[in-house]
Amino acid sequence: MRRPFIAGNWKMNTSVDEAINLVKEMVGELDRIYTVDTVLCPPFISLQPVKDITKGTSIELGAQNIYFKEKGAFTGEISPLMLKGLCKYVIIGHSERRQYFYETDAMVNDKVRAALTAGLLPILCIGESPEENERGLTEEVLERQVINAIKDIVPDGQLVIAYEPIWAIGTGKAATGLQAGQTIGFIREILARTWSQELAQTVRILYGGSVTGSNIAEFIKEPRIDGALVGGASLKAVEFISIIKQTASIKSAL
Ligand code: PEP
Repeated sequence: MRRPFIAGNWKMNTSVDEAINLVKEMVGELDRIYTVDTVLCPPFISLQPVKDITKGTSIELGAQNIYFKEKGAFTGEISPLMLKGLCKYVIIGHSERRQYFYETDAMVNDKVRAALTAGLLPILCIGESPEENERGLTEEVLERQVINAIKDIVPDGQLVIAYEPIWAIGTGKAATGLQAGQTIGFIREILARTWSQELAQTVRILYGGSVTGSNIAEFIKEPRIDGALVGGASLKAVEFISIIKQTASIKSAL
């Protein structure tokens, strides 16, 4: 059985002081929930202060992006080596990076490889646009994104994938549990075809897109869905705590 996984992507929100206050509101409630991997992804500048507060707890940290080079003349970028020891996970290929920063499938592949080489665990984001969805291209797009992202990589159980349809991100228009479950089943088939059935079963595949405390149960009840990548709702302590607690109780009863 794969361990349930919930990550909060704070995106470009929270000053350092706000991040500290937010994590202080969460830490007491989220610590010692050992049945869910709980991951907070604050902005780079808040990783260290948030780490100081979560030290010794069951909460893990993730970065929101990396560059794929180890070091050098890449002004403004952060390398996987710099993050080592600071966080365990890194979000790669989020649709906002693909859309606003022109990240290609090839760059995503480089970043996944660089993360694994440095010992960081990628949370690889994939998902179709509203237009692609309307034109019936969802499976084609996802297959291309997955195959390109894992090209020449066999991560040996180290990968987390987040299926995030772009039409559901930040829109309040979440997919249904059934839709997300079917699509995640399809993603696992791609992994099985590319690697092996056995390896495909080790990858945790999450749903992301307008997940809240009110709809998390619908996704978590789906056995094909291993957890969620949460944006907006991860900035509200009460809501995020509720998402984690519901995940813990629903998954342990399945
Ligand atoms: C995200 O950006 O990864 C996300 C899922 O955002 P939201 O939960 O706000 O839709």
